[in-house]
Amino acid sequence: MYDVLKVRRDFPILEREVNGRPLVYLDNAATSQKPLQVIRTLSRYYERHNANIHRGVHRLAEEATGLYEEARGKVARFIGAPDPRGLVFTRGTTESINLVAHAWGRKNLREGDEVVLTEAEHHSNLVPWQLAARDTGARLRFIPVLDDGTLDMEAAEHLIGPRTRLVGCVHASNVLGTVNPVERLAELAHEAGALMLVDGAQSAPHLPVDVTSLGCDFFAASGHKMLGPTGVGFLWARPELLEEMEPFLGGGEMIREVRLERSTWNEIPYKFEAGTMNIAQAIGLGAAVDYLGSLGMESVREHERRLGAYAYRRLAGVEGITLYGPAENRTGVVAFNLPEVHPHDLSQLLDQEGVAIRSGHHCCQPLMRRLGVVATARASLYLYNTEEEVEALVEAIARAREFFE
Ligand code: PLP
Repeated sequence: MYDVLKVRRDFPILEREVNGRPLVYLDNAATSQKPLQVIRTLSRYYERHNANIHRGVHRLAEEATGLYEEARGKVARFIGAPDPRGLVFTRGTTESINLVAHAWGRKNLREGDEVVLTEAEHHSNLVPWQLAARDTGARLRFIPVLDDGTLDMEAAEHLIGPRTRLVGCVHASNVLGTVNPVERLAELAHEAGALMLVDGAQSAPHLPVDVTSLGCDFFAASGHKMLGPTGVGFLWARPELLEEMEPFLGGGEMIREVRLERSTWNEIPYKFEAGTMNIAQAIGLGAAVDYLGSLGMESVREHERRLGAYAYRRLAGVEGITLYGPAENRTGVVAFNLPEVHPHDLSQLLDQEGVAIRSGHHCCQPLMRRLGVVATARASLYLYNTEEEVEALVEAIARAREFFE
């Protein structure tokens, strides 16, 4: 039985008050809060083990290296990656996708090639491809989003073809809450001889993820959205692809041998980890996936599925509200708009009651255009949220409406 009250006790920030009211934190798609287990791992690392990694042979250097590599193994296992050599630590999803667009895209894309994305991509899975397309002459094509917030898979079957080199898709939308059929897209990509990249920023924290059964070639996610520290995330790629790819950043530790004229590269994944990495943060991410693993991702998913459906139903009862995204098969992200109320104003009024939601374009301007809005309000739930907090949101919205009338 999932004990949400017990889970909440691990998150000290949830005891805070904001404007004299208990904090109701519903901005988890932006970043999650951190459990004591992660906070303590960070301070223990700095208190006991801090050193640079893969360089020194003294005790602390060996301990820090061991902890960092242990974290790599934990994160790889967490996403079902059979070989930790495929797991590259980065600063987050954005850097991971830029890594692929540079190190794979610049080398492999040519004029006439196509990269197929969707209309629902976060800017971080769009702009890097725009830059790669500009530099290589490749063309971007987009799978449309249907009115119910799901992808037009019939269109996808036509768009993905012999010119396609890569298909990139957000696994769980940070606006619509849709869980996209990335397994099917991976099949279509592979039938066309293309690669499949999954933006897992909103799936790795919330759903059981197994990169092998997803069938993808690249999977990117951010630690800070999955209970880990900021400054760390990861790219998983099939090791054979990483072997073939060019380095992304050059510098210390990514080399085997450096001469004045030219250099050779370290083995993977180190070839992609230039300079001093975010060591403490990677170790903190290891503690975060331990924590998620101890709850069980199936249980986390079930809690959020039920709470997300509850939030969707309760918000649907608010007069005049527009909800975005599908009613079924969704995560705990619920985007909405109220008539005549700008989402920023709504979000400020809710803050006065201690309720934290996000408003804006959510780094998805093309999707906003598709929805015919400039911005939405967005409540996004996580494993520590409760029905009472959803009620607090709905009540605060009701009071905000009175204010605007
Ligand atoms: N992709 C999606 C779907 C996201 O929601 C986000 C963050 O909001 C990102 C990518 C970018 O993540 P980061 O800013 O951690 O690199």
